[in-house]
Amino acid sequence: MKKVLIREERCKQCGICVDACPKNAISYSSEINSNGYQPVVIDDDLCNGCGICYTMCPDWVFEILGDRG
Ligand code: SF4
Ligand code: SF4
Repeated sequence: MKKVLIREERCKQCGICVDACPKNAISYSSEINSNGYQPVVIDDDLCNGCGICYTMCPDWVFEILGDRG
């Protein structure tokens, strides 16, 4: 189940969330957004909804959907 929503257009591919995710659930898309960056994608099977990515991202890419099991 999806626990985190991504606003692809805001991602600047800085890598902060990729390094911070305790589950290694974040990688980069093969698609390129309108700013020329490959936005992050989340592996929903690995993600536990902890919200660290939401806390760390300086560009408000993530939205936590709740159910942080
Ligand atoms: S909510 Fe937690 S586990 Fe899921 S992608 Fe973000 S940092 Fe990783
Ligand atoms: S989601 Fe935020 S922290 Fe992660 S790479 Fe994109 S801009 Fe950086």
